[in-house]
Amino acid sequence: MDMNIVLLPGDGIGPEITEQAVAVLKKVADKFGHNVTLTEELIGGCAIDATGKPLPQETVDACKKADAVFLGAVGGPKWDNLDGATRPEAGLLGIRKELGLFANLRPAKLFPELSSACFLRPDIVENGIDVMVVRELTGGIYFGQPQGQEVRDGIRYGYNTMVYNEDEVRRIARTAFEAAMKRDKRVCSVDKANVLEVSRLWRAVVEEVAAEYPEVELSHMYVDNAAMQLVRDPNQFDVVVTGNLFGDILSDEAAVITGSIGMLPSASLNKSGSGLFEPIHGSAPDIAGQNKANPLASILSMAMMLRHSFNLIKEANAIEDAVQKVLREGYRTGDIMSDGGTLVGCNTMGNLVVERL
Ligand code: NAD
Repeated sequence: MDMNIVLLPGDGIGPEITEQAVAVLKKVADKFGHNVTLTEELIGGCAIDATGKPLPQETVDACKKADAVFLGAVGGPKWDNLDGATRPEAGLLGIRKELGLFANLRPAKLFPELSSACFLRPDIVENGIDVMVVRELTGGIYFGQPQGQEVRDGIRYGYNTMVYNEDEVRRIARTAFEAAMKRDKRVCSVDKANVLEVSRLWRAVVEEVAAEYPEVELSHMYVDNAAMQLVRDPNQFDVVVTGNLFGDILSDEAAVITGSIGMLPSASLNKSGSGLFEPIHGSAPDIAGQNKANPLASILSMAMMLRHSFNLIKEANAIEDAVQKVLREGYRTGDIMSDGGTLVGCNTMGNLVVERL
């Protein structure tokens, strides 16, 4: 297969972790006989330094032409005094919008080898955690109209509108069911249908989509219960699908219980199946350039790219297996040293994964 990929290494540890993920991609492409074309573009602080803008038009054009976009991280203290639209983070929000990324896939995976880093009781996580949160990203209460603040009869009001139309629900539901087909074939749709009209529509449309996927088991859960169940017994979930607001909260909750921010990848997809793949952590300016960063979130984001944008399941599994092997052999970057092991730097961790492939 030919893969045309744009790399956006960005700032801080972005370039060093991206370098390791690219080495892994090249090894997989070699091993399985694929052609990879890589183009590097600017985003965030480095783009501000070079062009005055966090998202140059050249970057947007290249990303739109690519089959997939791979991002390191953006931001850092150097650009913290800039405001709003000129900040590095504006580049990230801008590219998400330009690419029409409506679905955010956030796996919260705890490898059993790292279970001592987890915040939950050992008996709950002895086999690790493997939950995928699929969050709607471009609709719901964050964008619904009307929204604003006004004074009515001398009292100040603030309001937002939680709104979804059936097309928006249908496409995110399909994304969740497609993801479940590549996993354990279970979807839990999270809503607040006991209170919210918008959730009643959400639930009805998710049920309609479920009929297209007879192999996938669908359940529904209210968001307050889901927040509890995620910490009580995360492994009851396979794929969780939910709206923008609930997904914002639940995806962070699911991530933090694993205890390892340097291990968590993410994918944001658009309707053509193309997407942006990136670790969930930031640019970690405190350790940038010191060969201390954990490249595994970035490497696992590469696996997500192969699985979700290119449907290369064997290749994605090979990367994840290689990561697990390296962890089982006891190699650790500083951020995941809680149980001891052999301390390695960013480059060595990347090399070890490449060797295990
Ligand atoms: P952060 O995720 O960059 O760092 C939080 C802590 O986790 C730090 O102590 C850092 O050293 C550590 N850490 C993060 N990733 C790691 C890795 N791969 N290996 C080892 N340790 C790691 O979050 P922050 O400190 O709140 O933000 C720093 C900068 O990153 C800010 O400018 C922020 O705006 C930006 N940011 C960018 C993104 C993104 O690009 N998607 C996301 C979050 C924050």
